[in-house]
Amino acid sequence: MKKRVGVLALQGDFAAHAAAVERAGAEPVLVRDAEQLEDVDGLVIPGGESTTMLKLLHYDGLMEPLARFGGEKPIFGTCAGAILLASEVTRPNQESLALMDIGVERNGYGRQLDSRVANIDPEPEFQQRSRPGKLEAVFIRAPIIRRVGPETKVLARYQGDPVLVEQGRHLVATFHPELTPDARVHSYFLEKL
Ligand code: GLN
Repeated sequence: MKKRVGVLALQGDFAAHAAAVERAGAEPVLVRDAEQLEDVDGLVIPGGESTTMLKLLHYDGLMEPLARFGGEKPIFGTCAGAILLASEVTRPNQESLALMDIGVERNGYGRQLDSRVANIDPEPEFQQRSRPGKLEAVFIRAPIIRRVGPETKVLARYQGDPVLVEQGRHLVATFHPELTPDARVHSYFLEKL
């Protein structure tokens, strides 16, 4: 049976993530309430606007259920999703789910005009566990990961800063793997389910 992967669908580019989950061979489920979390093996928190997403999470009473879900099951956060998973958010300081021991600075690469596409070399461990070759990394007003805790593993860097990091069952990317045809990052996440 196909794995069922929730994609938090309150705001942001959840549709592109649902398509990427499908390309990686799992069944995407758009999640909009706490009940739906009971029915999925893992969750993707997409890119978008983390401040807006936080407001909606509070409004929909999803903060607690998400924190509980993350205590048991894997979550993959991209960009705004990575900001929500981080234990420390700066510029400005912001509340988060704090499921990963990383410190992020919002919009760390600059504003919209500074969005870019880069070809990055993932760490050998990522290439061994998935497939060899560079990753096309799309950055859109991305946060910079300024600090990683001792329990984390950096799977890829860009200009020396971590951009793909895992900690146990959780994974974050500051770029947008859902916007490229390469399904390796989503497949890597599916292996955690
Ligand atoms: N800059 C956004 C934030 O701070 C994140 C951008 C993105 O998800 N593409 O939430």
